[in-house]
Amino acid sequence: MLATLAAETSPPQPDPAIRHVVLVSVDGLRPEMLLPDLVDVHPGLVRLTRGPHTLQARCDPDLSITLPNHLDMLTGRPVTGERGHQWTGNADPPARAQGGTLHARGGAYLSSMFDVAHDHGLRTGVVCGKWKFVLLEQSYGEDAGGPDQVKPDDGKDKIDLFLCDPQPRSQLEHVVTLLERSAAERRRSLVFWHIPSPDFAGHAKGWDLTSGSDYRRAVAEADAALAMFLQRCDADPELRGRVAVVLTADHGGGVPFISHSDPEAPVNFTIPLVAWLGRDEAAADLYDLNPGSRRRPGPTERFAPGSLPPIRNGDAGNLALHLLGLPAIPGSSINAAQDLAVRSDPAPATSSR
Ligand SMILES: [Zn+2]
Repeated sequence: MLATLAAETSPPQPDPAIRHVVLVSVDGLRPEMLLPDLVDVHPGLVRLTRGPHTLQARCDPDLSITLPNHLDMLTGRPVTGERGHQWTGNADPPARAQGGTLHARGGAYLSSMFDVAHDHGLRTGVVCGKWKFVLLEQSYGEDAGGPDQVKPDDGKDKIDLFLCDPQPRSQLEHVVTLLERSAAERRRSLVFWHIPSPDFAGHAKGWDLTSGSDYRRAVAEADAALAMFLQRCDADPELRGRVAVVLTADHGGGVPFISHSDPEAPVNFTIPLVAWLGRDEAAADLYDLNPGSRRRPGPTERFAPGSLPPIRNGDAGNLALHLLGLPAIPGSSINAAQDLAVRSDPAPATSSR
């Protein structure tokens, strides 16, 4: 009976053509920036919506600030609660020896998507635009990462490349180089790419969505890097059709106007979540694809009505692993069943398992 139940609830199988997944977080990205009428000025973002996506995802249930929300994505845990990662700070972390690891906060090793991917032999990378993400290197670098759980032993350094560079155009070069190198080695890869510029502009001049604003220019700059990234993948026969992009944001912004600190403000908690599966496809609504596991909140609702959760940025890590055919992050609670479907076809029969 248990086996039957497991078979019936198995998530759809991933596409074996996908060999690389890039989890992109555009810091402070409002979902309006992905609307189709912006295709001329945001060709990269609009292209990424040619596949399953929603512009009604939600950030962490309690906090709408940067570092905690990225940890939701990368660990598959919310900030608070029994299964939370417990990291509430948003400043540069203390040194490793002074408690600057995720494990020290919770008193036990806290796995990430990097652990799962690296233990399975993938090349992993972080290309980020804010120094506070050194918390990832301090938590999953060679001095702090956990033992490899999957033979052969790929070591304790779960992040092969950690690089901080705030410029989207040079970031894209780092990401492409990592993918090309992985492909040349016949290795798969998982990269976290954090683009900071819209958040910088928002804090300087506000989350101003009017044409020509600093915020709009910063989003266009991020978009140009994404559009170029997709072109570079298209142009490389080793990467074309083999790179999936999961794109989301840590938070929106605009309440207060030059920040995003109020977790109850719809413009702060509403974010996009996009799964682009290696090629342009027909757009599909992620909520429509997941009627049994996620529920769409109203536009001003922070939580979905009833018992089902909304789609959250915290879904992203386990989705990225699922697209690579890898299991969920140990101890995670968001999308831990990897049941966020990105295709409409039903799960194939798995009775042979
Ligand atoms: Zn910010």
